[in-house]
Amino acid sequence: MPSALENLVKILKLEREQDARNAAVVGGLSAFCTSWEPRARRQARRPKHHILIDEIVDRLSKYDELDADERISRIDYVLARIMHRQPPPQEYKDRLPIWEAKLKAQRPPKPAHSDRRDARPGGRGGRPKFIEDSAALDRDYSSGPRTSTLDIRPAPRLARPPRQARPPRTAEAEQALQQELQASTTQAKGIGEKMAEALRQIDLHSIRDLLYHFPRDYQDYTHLKCIQDLSAGETVTVLATATRSRTVVGRGKYDDLLVEFSDGSGRLSVRFFGQAFLASRLQPGKQVVLSGRVRQYQDVLQMANPEWELLAADNLHAIGIVPIYRLTKELRPRLFRRTMKALTDEWAEKMPDAIPQTVLDRGELADLGWAIQQRHFPAGSDHRHHAQRRLLFDDLLMLHLTLLGKRREWQSSRGPALEVSDEFLRGFISAAFPFELTSAQQRAIADIRRDVSPPLPMNRLIQGDVGAGKTAVALVAMAMALANGRQAALMAPTGILAEQHYRHLRATFDKIDSEQPTVIALLTSSLSASERESIYRGMADGSIDIVVGTHALIQEGAAFDDLGIAVIDEQHRFGVDQRGRLRGKGQNPHLLVMTATPIPRTLALTFYADLDLTVMDEIPPGRQTVHTELMETVARERLYGFVTAALEQGRQAFFVYPLVSESETSDAASATAAYDELRRVFFRHRVCLLHGQMPPQQKDEVMRAFAAHQYDVMVTTTVTESGVDVPNATIIVIEGANRFGLAQLHQLRGRVGRGAHQSHCFLIPQSSGDISPERIDAVKAGQLDESALSLQEQRLAAILSTSDGFELAEVDYRLRGAGELLGRLQSGQGAQGAVIPAELIQLAQREAQTLYAEDPELQLPEHQLLANRIHSLHSDSGDVS
Ligand code: ADP
Ligand code: MG
Repeated sequence: MPSALENLVKILKLEREQDARNAAVVGGLSAFCTSWEPRARRQARRPKHHILIDEIVDRLSKYDELDADERISRIDYVLARIMHRQPPPQEYKDRLPIWEAKLKAQRPPKPAHSDRRDARPGGRGGRPKFIEDSAALDRDYSSGPRTSTLDIRPAPRLARPPRQARPPRTAEAEQALQQELQASTTQAKGIGEKMAEALRQIDLHSIRDLLYHFPRDYQDYTHLKCIQDLSAGETVTVLATATRSRTVVGRGKYDDLLVEFSDGSGRLSVRFFGQAFLASRLQPGKQVVLSGRVRQYQDVLQMANPEWELLAADNLHAIGIVPIYRLTKELRPRLFRRTMKALTDEWAEKMPDAIPQTVLDRGELADLGWAIQQRHFPAGSDHRHHAQRRLLFDDLLMLHLTLLGKRREWQSSRGPALEVSDEFLRGFISAAFPFELTSAQQRAIADIRRDVSPPLPMNRLIQGDVGAGKTAVALVAMAMALANGRQAALMAPTGILAEQHYRHLRATFDKIDSEQPTVIALLTSSLSASERESIYRGMADGSIDIVVGTHALIQEGAAFDDLGIAVIDEQHRFGVDQRGRLRGKGQNPHLLVMTATPIPRTLALTFYADLDLTVMDEIPPGRQTVHTELMETVARERLYGFVTAALEQGRQAFFVYPLVSESETSDAASATAAYDELRRVFFRHRVCLLHGQMPPQQKDEVMRAFAAHQYDVMVTTTVTESGVDVPNATIIVIEGANRFGLAQLHQLRGRVGRGAHQSHCFLIPQSSGDISPERIDAVKAGQLDESALSLQEQRLAAILSTSDGFELAEVDYRLRGAGELLGRLQSGQGAQGAVIPAELIQLAQREAQTLYAEDPELQLPEHQLLANRIHSLHSDSGDVS
């Protein structure tokens, strides 16, 4: 068992290898020193030991404040003192008599219990000795032969990924390699039919699938923690020696194994449930890397069923950073890792790389083979970074190229040229709206007018926050089509929204229409077949000017006589394909897409590369801000009182819950259960329930009734997200607020504050123990650093501090990354949840545009692989947004 001193040596060496970044131990060396000293003193037997400790503590206790050079020189000095028996400096030697006296005074009359155990020959688990044989330390921990002791050092820094010249390969050779990649997994070394079957269960069929089945996480053995620094609740990795083990009766069929581990700094008791058979492998003396969650029972630190690896030279998995894969029970992690290691080693050199060398040069991007290898088995954190960067780049580039291709397809045909005069526009705007347009609205209208005047189809995305007034812009766009004798269509994600748009349009045109009334139709799924038929007829023969609808608009049978402009509201619900289908309905109409879910501009440029972008970053004047407050669960009674008072004054309220039914997860607040509860609480008022599992028609009915104030309180799941307007609703209570995404919270809050009355949003976190309003307040007041907050707390802090959707989108992006936004286009595995840096997105944009300008159809031989890749991506994933 390593003694305190051995432990320190280990840490100092690691620290030195990490360029003295004070990261070898969590909390830093100074803090470590404080807790190390008493332990070392307990083990020290002789005055000279204590002098050594004195000196070490003096040299290292201010370590945090030193610069890197000074740190290194102190480490070297201390190591030399410990291992090479350098004599102490005179001032420390002078203390010898003092320590002799102290020790004499302390020496107990009889040997203590632990001393007796220590004296036992070969006794393990007793008190470790202070170092007697410093040469042994040298053997164990420094640069000796690496065969018996593993080198768990982080790899050296790697500022730039290494690049290799590409082997000159014929097109046939490339083709053959591609074929090989498509081959069944059984073609890989070490994979038999049985394992292949297990792999098929997780959708891994070919060699390529395997190579792109990236780890969901890693175990980083280059950052080990000392047992004494562990605290309950953390998930950690430690390197320790088994000191004793015994079998105990288990709860299940098999006995449990209880093993005590020690690393010189403390003890850890580990229970392997039902795995008594491990006893022979985890014998005392074995060095083991353990990783798992730490619990504390009374004074004892414990782990249950941790992941573990014996530390042995031939055990490649224990070296450095170890991948953890998403697998099924049938697949044994160790075997899978070994197989992957062989496979990635084999392919690292010969992986066909679709990205031209020049692109990699410009972006300092890694070779594909290397990236795949390092993504699975990173030699260090830099390697992992470069690997991930390269693979993300591929995804982004493919996405961008795909969308540019779509855009080109659309623009290859002519669109209706729409001309409108200044007088017409001015006249329409002043007749239609009782307000002045904001300058953002004016800019959006100018963009649209410029887009539609040439005979090329418009493809524009308007991103505007909730309430920015996008409907008015859409209306003006539609009027442009009508003024040119053409039809317009407006598509919304739900029937209720379509209906709301319809009423709004009807009212507006009723105001404007003079001699010839504008014919407007509402097409939703709630119509009878004959009603729908009659609308389809009107669309096809041109007697209907504007049609407002849901998905029904792009269904079979819907065709237009002469569609000039199609507007899609709340774009996030529609994919690229649906946009395409709507377009197919006319003779290539102009397309205007509107979204209230802002995403950061850099991202928007990639995710909507097939669209031109207008940002409406201005809210009409006079809008009230919604008072937002984080409530504790216990304050609920007070909250009910507040809501009741508002209801009494004729206002309405939303209560939002994250899940629909109790069965989904046990601790989830359920809208259905809450409905029963809230009906009792607000027994004097009318309470309704709306959730995602209700049929669409019923949902529309409930929503309509609530909008008409036939109900006072709506208990709901997230369905209220889409832009339904109920100006009389002034309170929204969001239960389990920490479980909602930032964009969702923002959308939900946007449901209130639409009328003249002051509105309120109350956020009630679930399991409020993990969420501390005080901590959030302290951060807002600048008394505490933001990093003190958990991710959920940071989200809540953001929603409390701003009502600007774009700002929130930036925060969301920072916290969550763009991985999720990449969605299905992904090669399926890589980027989920990864943070995609803006720099990389811009790089992919630039490179895609360069490639595209040079060879729009990717016909050049050097772009052949790329064209194939996009083609195959496309055929298996259809919808990309
Ligand atoms: P969104 O962008 O979320 O779709 P809406 O178009 O529904 O927003 O507009 C929200 C509200 O703001 C509506 O009641 C609308 O009448 C009003 N509104 C729109 N533009 C202006 C403006 N320039 N000045 C004042 N109110 C406006
Ligand atoms: Mg809207």
